[in-house]
Amino acid sequence: MKIFCIGRNYEAHARELENPLPEELIVFMKPDTALLRNNVPFYIPDFSNEVHYETEIIVRINRLGKGIEEKYAHRYYEEIGLGIDFTARDLQNQLRAKGLPWEKSKAFDNSAVISEFINISQFANNIKNLPFHLEINGEIRQKGNSSDMIFSVDKIISELSKYFTLKIGDIIFTGTPAGVGAIAIGDRLIGYIEDKCFFDFLVK
Ligand code: ZN
Repeated sequence: MKIFCIGRNYEAHARELENPLPEELIVFMKPDTALLRNNVPFYIPDFSNEVHYETEIIVRINRLGKGIEEKYAHRYYEEIGLGIDFTARDLQNQLRAKGLPWEKSKAFDNSAVISEFINISQFANNIKNLPFHLEINGEIRQKGNSSDMIFSVDKIISELSKYFTLKIGDIIFTGTPAGVGAIAIGDRLIGYIEDKCFFDFLVK
């Protein structure tokens, strides 16, 4: 399985990191060894002093597809969840300054937290208008709504499938809203879509 991640898909987040808005989809990938599930603790890796949380709606692909038109993209998923794209921001900034690939800062072990996946029919709102948020130690630290995505889920699937064959079980991290920040040992991260809890784990 593949894990796709979309960069700068919310305007306010692109601005908080002083990045220009993307004219085309920004894509990077994580290997399956990046997955962290079942609310097990996240251990801050020793190569970073600034690991940021990025809370993101995640989508699981449920059929094989290539060259998918946007109007048919909704046929390729039926379950979504909530994830965290952990990012070693200090390392990412060093790599970017040198024009090097991001992988060491984005794709390291356990950097892709995923929740269970739930059928989209289970939500009160449409996938195009889903509120989600992250609480750290009981305080809301990041808040988003899928309606603020620059590239919608259907558009993302269409664009990705121009370059990559999508397979059953592939996961897409759809980008993070504003409010990213560093985690610290002892933090408790709880993520919600609407009022449903999707993950609840500790940082060690
Ligand atoms: Zn991200």
